[in-house]
Amino acid sequence: MRPTGKLHLGNYMGALANWVKLQDQDAQYDCYFFIADLHALTTDYADTSGIAPNTLEVALDFLAAGLDPERSTIFVQSQVKQHYELPLLLGMITPLGWLERVPSYKEMQDNLATKDLTTYGFLGYPVLMASDILLYQPQFVPVGQDQQAHVELTREIARRFNQFYKFDGREVLPEPKVLLTPSPKLPGTDGRKMSKSYGNTIQMTDAEAVVRQKLKTMVTDPARVRRTDKGDPDKCPVGDLHKVFSTAETLAKVYDGCRSAGIGCIECKGWAADALVQILQPIQERRASYSTAMVKEILKDGSRRARTRAEQTMHEVHSAMQLTLTDEVGR
Ligand code: AMP
Repeated sequence: MRPTGKLHLGNYMGALANWVKLQDQDAQYDCYFFIADLHALTTDYADTSGIAPNTLEVALDFLAAGLDPERSTIFVQSQVKQHYELPLLLGMITPLGWLERVPSYKEMQDNLATKDLTTYGFLGYPVLMASDILLYQPQFVPVGQDQQAHVELTREIARRFNQFYKFDGREVLPEPKVLLTPSPKLPGTDGRKMSKSYGNTIQMTDAEAVVRQKLKTMVTDPARVRRTDKGDPDKCPVGDLHKVFSTAETLAKVYDGCRSAGIGCIECKGWAADALVQILQPIQERRASYSTAMVKEILKDGSRRARTRAEQTMHEVHSAMQLTLTDEVGR
C-alpha cells in the first residue's frame, strides 16, 4: 500500500479486511505487509515532504484494521535495503518491452499529466514491485483483480531469472500465485469509485457525525427524483454500500422500501450510515490505542524481521548469479 495519506473504506474493503482474514485464518499464512514508500517516489519525487507522515498514518490504519504485529510482519519498504538491491539485478534481465507494455504505464502518464513521469524510476516500477514480492519467496500474493497483471509480470521476471541462474541446482525465485481476494469496487459519495483523487472518500478515521454528513450528500438512483418515485437499489451507490456493509435484514428492507417508494432516500442513507458507524467504531477504538512511538517501534521491529528474511533470498540470488566474491569481502 502506498503512503498516500489516511486510508478510506475502499482500501479497507478492497485490501485490508482481506489481509486481516488471511492473518486470522486457522491455516495461518506467514504474512508480510508493507508500506511502499519507495513507490511513492515514482510519482512524488519532486516533493517528498508527505511521505514520512503518511507512512505513519497508513501504519496506524493497518493496525486499526486488525493487523497484528505479533502474527504478521509489518514494515516500511525503504527501511529494508534489499528492496533497493534486487531491483537493480532484476532490471538487468527485464526486457524494456515488458515494461512499456504494462497498461498502467501509459494510463498513469496520461492521468497525472501535471507530473513528469518520463523517468527511469517510473518505467521501472514493475521491477521494483516484482522485487518487493520475490524477496520473500512467497507462495501467494493476495490482491484484487485490478492487480493481477502486475503479479503476472512478476512471474515472468522470476521465470526468466530462474532460466538464467540456479542456486545448488534449484530455482531461487519461485513463481508466486495470485491469491484472488474479493475486492468489491466501493463507490464514493459522488457515485464514482471511492478514491482519494476524486475527493469522494469516507475515511477509516471519520467520526460518526462526519460519516452521517457525507452520507447525506451521497448521490442516489438518478431516476428517483421525488420522494414518491420508485427507485432501484441496484442502480444506486447507497444501495451498493448496503450490499457490502448492511445485514441481510436491512438489505431486504432497503429493496422493499426503495422499490415501493415506502421509504425515502434520507431514511435509507441513515441505515447505511448506521452500518458504517458500526464497522468503524472498533477500528477507531483500536487506532486510538496506539501512540506514534508504539507505531514507530512496530515498524522498526517489522523492518528488522523483513531484512532478515529478505537477506536469505539475496544470499541465494547472489550465489546463483555468481556474485559471491563480494560476500567473501563482507558485503
Ligand atoms: P490505491 O491506494 O488506490 O492504490 O489502493 C490500494 C488498495 O485499495 C488496492 O488494493 C485497491 O484495489 C484497493 N482500493 C482502492 N480503492 C478502492 C475502492 N473504491 N473499492 C475497492 N477497493 C479499493
